[in-house]
Amino acid sequence: MPAAIIDGRAAAAELRAELHVHGTRLRDRGIVPRLVVAIVGEDAASMSYVRSLVATGKSTAIDVDVDMLPPDATEAVVRQQMERLGRDRSVHGVILQQPLPSGLSIRNIAESIPAGKDVDCSNPVNQGRLAFGSGTEFVPATPAAVMLLLERSPAWPLRGKRCVVVGRSSVVGLPVALLALRCDATITIVHSKTIDLAVHLREAEVVIAATGVPRMITGSMLRPGCTVIDVGTAVVDGKLVGDVDFASAGRVAAAITPVPGGVGPVTNVALMSNVLKACERLTDGRP
Ligand code: NAP
Repeated sequence: MPAAIIDGRAAAAELRAELHVHGTRLRDRGIVPRLVVAIVGEDAASMSYVRSLVATGKSTAIDVDVDMLPPDATEAVVRQQMERLGRDRSVHGVILQQPLPSGLSIRNIAESIPAGKDVDCSNPVNQGRLAFGSGTEFVPATPAAVMLLLERSPAWPLRGKRCVVVGRSSVVGLPVALLALRCDATITIVHSKTIDLAVHLREAEVVIAATGVPRMITGSMLRPGCTVIDVGTAVVDGKLVGDVDFASAGRVAAAITPVPGGVGPVTNVALMSNVLKACERLTDGRP
């Protein structure tokens, strides 16, 4: 039987409607939820991402503003801007868009992203809180989107399930592994130096792929009946494809996310959920 499709667009529409109610309730109290996206220089992919954020903001009753910094801005200038946004009481969420121009290092700047407004969890303080599982942290948007889709999959609840995360980056692989661990899954993280990836994948009831290597995971590497969440995106012959070979994997898995139309649409909504969380915390006077 072909795998069930875990439909990210449908999940995103449902979540957007919930957030719109929430955002409107805040507006009715005279509070305008506001996200500021700081961009250094003009990167075409970043500008396209910001346009999609503005659209998601509109559908969730959140204002999204872009703060353009010149391409030659120094680390000191970017840090000062982050601190200014931290003091601005009309701003509830702040993102410093990456990639940064080559002269700037996110490692030297991330700590200046205001922790209480750090809705994509880029400040090391919030990343540490995520590892600590304190419940006070923001969950970064893409890992949050993965969990929202898993909640709608046959693999839920994750308790006791064998889960393989392919990729260990600090933005996707590692935080998603921490979140699944918190749900009592048994986690294996694999990466480019892992020997014989398929040995691990064949054991997995849940596979979360986040490498950016197009179609590297095929059906023959998977355990029959598993759930597959494909975070990866790459453009091949002008077409957006994931890390998973959808055709062959779809004949083996019980459920799978498509690319496009899986994790991507839910990511922006997860981010807006964090903006509303930040807005409520800040207006309640919490740090
Ligand atoms: P990244 O920083 O480049 O990390 C890629 C990870 O994949 C690394 O840990 C790398 O291992 C691992 N890897 C690379 N080749 C591999 C192989 N052959 N076998 C096993 N592991 C391999 O990328 P990222 O920022 O985490 O993003 C991952 C993918 O998700 C990208 O395609 C990105 O575009 C996509 N993405 C999608 C969304 C969304 O909303 N849909 C959001 C963010 C990212 P090493 O650590 O050993 O190098």
